[in-house]
Amino acid sequence: RKRVWNISTGSEALNGILGGGIQSMSITEVFGEFRCGKTQMSHTLCVAAQLPKDMGGAEGKVAFIDTEGTFRPDRIKAIADRYGLDPDQTMENIIVSRAYNSEQQMDYITRLGTIFAEDGQYRLLIVDSIMALFRVDYSGRGELSERQQKLNIMLARLNHISEEFNVAVFVTNQVQADPGAALMFASNDRKPVGGHVMAHASATRLLLRKGRGEERVAKLNDSPDMPEAECSYIITPGGIAD
Ligand code: ADP
Ligand code: MG
Repeated sequence: RKRVWNISTGSEALNGILGGGIQSMSITEVFGEFRCGKTQMSHTLCVAAQLPKDMGGAEGKVAFIDTEGTFRPDRIKAIADRYGLDPDQTMENIIVSRAYNSEQQMDYITRLGTIFAEDGQYRLLIVDSIMALFRVDYSGRGELSERQQKLNIMLARLNHISEEFNVAVFVTNQVQADPGAALMFASNDRKPVGGHVMAHASATRLLLRKGRGEERVAKLNDSPDMPEAECSYIITPGGIAD
């Protein structure tokens, strides 16, 4: 049997509530409002995955699917600096695919399955963000069931890849925009988009929200082996930290 291992998020507190970091062989989903740090966490994981195991890494390569055009090589280089890794070498170990529609996103995921089979060094697959393009492509009335069907196929493929190649799959997700609710409820009452299809596919679900000032808060909502818990983290030039 393959063994599940972890990749550090960059924050010891967050690794703690996750039971060591994000797990291989399943999907970890982070969701939250704009600017809570989903993309910064994705960048931090891109670097952490390459670290030696005793530093919270997996000594592996990374695949990043960027659906919002927010991947920044300069951020990778700054985070590599924090960990004492060579910035250019760190970038070379990341394949970045920019998807412009959900079909392309699916094609990239399929292609990555082939790449992972040929090159056994991949340890992490990131999709930032999983739902953004689906929400554009299937925005019409009556298109929801088709969207959920396509989403289900994509998530099944991601779960399959995570198990077959023992990689960690990390996806970011948006929260439902509900301007009325935003006034009435705290932001931690926000729901991720993607409904039960998304909820079912993610083994681990983490809600991110803004705290006071620079502080951010993560709440573990769902985990195969850890209790519900909350912690805070910060976003620094060197990525996610305590
Ligand atoms: P999301 O993807 O959830 O919308 P991001 O991951 O893009 O959010 O996080 C945006 C936040 O990260 C902003 O508050 C921004 O100030 C902070 N941030 C971005 N780059 C840096 C940096 N180099 N140093 C410190 N904070 C940064
Ligand atoms: Mg983002």
